[in-house]
Amino acid sequence: MPIALCPGSFDPVTLGHIDIIERAARHFDEIIVAVIRNPQKSQSLFSLEERQDLLAECLGHLDNFRIEVFKGLLVEFAKEHGADSIVKGLRAVSDFDYELQMAQMNQRLTGIDTFFLSTSPQYSFLSSSLVKEVARFGGDVSTMVPPIVAKRLRDRYGEENA
Ligand code: ADP
Repeated sequence: MPIALCPGSFDPVTLGHIDIIERAARHFDEIIVAVIRNPQKSQSLFSLEERQDLLAECLGHLDNFRIEVFKGLLVEFAKEHGADSIVKGLRAVSDFDYELQMAQMNQRLTGIDTFFLSTSPQYSFLSSSLVKEVARFGGDVSTMVPPIVAKRLRDRYGEENA
């Protein structure tokens, strides 16, 4: 029963992430969305719990995923959870160098394979950090994240600017 990991920080989840997870879910029996527990909590805008809750809300239409938290080596986490593959999205060439290195290192460590999905063109330049940058200054992120995420961003930055 092939299980794939979709790892990320999801701070917050964007339409680019959702697109990759939805497409991966068509090819694997189960997707484990693996949310990175950042060692320095202050680095992320949303807490681990908030990031998980938003993912759960935004992926509710899928029936073959679960959300888990991981820290440490992704390949060890994969082994513990019976995942045979990792799925990553590739945006621009700038993603490629780093992703190739990681995929090759993970393959060497445990033999796990990484599958790359090319991003849908409308999400090529979408990243969580860019979304936060736009939202921080009151920009419209409604084409980049689901409505619930847009609202949470408005609330969060509203609080900070209050
Ligand atoms: P980001 O890189 O946006 O800060 P993450 O670390 O949470 O976000 O991303 C996890 C993974 O999700 C990335 O390694 C990449 O594979 C994929 N991903 C993120 N954004 C996109 C996008 N817009 N299109 C395709 N894949 C994406």
